[in-house]
Amino acid sequence: MTFPDLRVGSGFDVHPLVEGRPLVIGGVTIPYPRGLVGDSDGDVLYHATADAILGGSGNGDLGVHFPPGDTRWVGLDSGVLVTTARTLAEQSGFRLVNVDATVVAQQPKLRPFFEEMRMNLARLLDLDLDRVNVKAKSTDGLGFLGRREGIAALVTALVARPPAPGSI
Ligand code: MG
Repeated sequence: MTFPDLRVGSGFDVHPLVEGRPLVIGGVTIPYPRGLVGDSDGDVLYHATADAILGGSGNGDLGVHFPPGDTRWVGLDSGVLVTTARTLAEQSGFRLVNVDATVVAQQPKLRPFFEEMRMNLARLLDLDLDRVNVKAKSTDGLGFLGRREGIAALVTALVARPPAPGSI
């Protein structure tokens, strides 16, 4: 019996919340007085997802493929980062199996936006919806996330490719 070559990857990202920016998480623009600042649109969920896929497929991290400070990424739709990570994984012979994400935010309440986030990720990753899970956590007011100074995301992605000839 042969087993597929399974690899797990993890991604983490955090961006500051500031006035005068739209809040974009998982490709969804969420009504809130402040938004995430960073290169691109600051979408922590997409960034952490891209890093998880790059990690699982052995393709380094986002900084390798999109060096920070490059003006080309200013205002970039972070969906491009997710599709780039997927393409690199596919070029390494991997298919995504599933993605599980946690967004850490004291405010706003994200649950009403989960389904749209999942649909966006499923579309970008060409996955069935039941292979994409999005959760939210607060830190019960603790730390910079609890003080609503920023929002973080943690993502785990599983990737698989056919077994190498002769492997068990
Ligand atoms: Mg980021």
